[in-house]
Amino acid sequence: MKEPVMELTETDIRYEFPVLRSYPDMVYLDSGATTQKPESVLRRIDRYYRLENANVHRGIHALGEAATEAYEGSRDRVFKFINASRREEIVFTGGTTDAINLVASGFRESLLKPGKKILLSGMEHHANLVPWQLAAQRSGAELDFIPVSDDGSLELEDLEARLNNKVAIVALTQVSNVLGTVNPIDRIIDTAHSMGIPVLIDAAQSISRIPVDVQQLKADFLVFSGHKVYGPTGTGVLYGREEWLDRLPPYRGGGDMIDTVDLHTSTWNTLPYKFEAGTPNISGAAGLGAALEWLDRRDVRRVGEHEELLTEILRSRLEELSWIKMLPAPEGARTGLVSFTIDGIHHYDAAQVLDKKGFALRSGHHCAQPLHRRFGLEGSLRASFGAYNRESEIDRLLDALHDTRRFLS
Ligand code: PMP
Repeated sequence: MKEPVMELTETDIRYEFPVLRSYPDMVYLDSGATTQKPESVLRRIDRYYRLENANVHRGIHALGEAATEAYEGSRDRVFKFINASRREEIVFTGGTTDAINLVASGFRESLLKPGKKILLSGMEHHANLVPWQLAAQRSGAELDFIPVSDDGSLELEDLEARLNNKVAIVALTQVSNVLGTVNPIDRIIDTAHSMGIPVLIDAAQSISRIPVDVQQLKADFLVFSGHKVYGPTGTGVLYGREEWLDRLPPYRGGGDMIDTVDLHTSTWNTLPYKFEAGTPNISGAAGLGAALEWLDRRDVRRVGEHEELLTEILRSRLEELSWIKMLPAPEGARTGLVSFTIDGIHHYDAAQVLDKKGFALRSGHHCAQPLHRRFGLEGSLRASFGAYNRESEIDRLLDALHDTRRFLS
């Protein structure tokens, strides 16, 4: 078996993460839920409150300028990280869920109506399903789904038939948070665009693992959360092509998102501020910028290769155990995580026993109930990797799984 490609001494990378330093025996396999945060991110947040604390876009004083620079500097960092063509296309949000709700509510108000369709897939996180359910219910539009095949990939054979002039938007995850499947979003975007249909990409699970270039992808919208990319909770990004952001109405009203306000009417600020009402999460944005800087230094491509390798190692080790059933993911197009069940043992009990042994795994439906039902399950265990995981942790997990089975059967 090849060794992970990262040259860093593994001790060094873990040393950058206070949580991993504080619990040296813990095996953290829940980065799909949230990644740990490196010192540089924590220090950046701390610096804002200690040395730059003021509101943004307001005061003509030194602190106000420092705060604005912290906030807008992070927007520049995001803009470069995903290679957007204009910084105005980067909207800060509270996370992936918040960003999808913004787009879904904008579509509901301006573009959805009876007879229109929203095309999703059968492997979406609830965050990329429920906001569209609400939009469909409230507008009279319908939902349609690209099915998931037995091997964990999307059934794309009849994609062209599904895409017709009734479809107002396609919204898809790039990497499944349950299967680890990497969807061929470039191909899907090209097909949708050939019919003039916009595409939203949920990059919550991909942004920390796969280099994302929104211009090359030609994505219309792309969303992600800061906390899954080594940044703080409560932060996120909506990238939207300018022409699309211009077409969508404001999401929330309040300060900063307006140009002029009358007692009865208002006009809107320019992009991206039209979508950023009220005092934003300034410290969070600064922390998100620091997280992307950290990932740039580590090189997202190499981090992704490292996690892909760990994923393959874990899959091949689990394959040897007849009492473990992995959820499927297509070979050559999967990364970052493995979900599985243990014969005769409830995932919740297993996760509890594993926790006592120092292993942090996710158990449950991972906010993807329809996908679990598709495979006849109510839930599963999920091991998901971050840049700091190592192959030796997989050995330890395998030993712990054997012990857990002995203990619970
Ligand atoms: N989409 C995917 C694929 C996810 O994995 C998650 C988080 N598990 C979300 C959306 C929602 O992200 P958040 O809770 O940070 O808004």
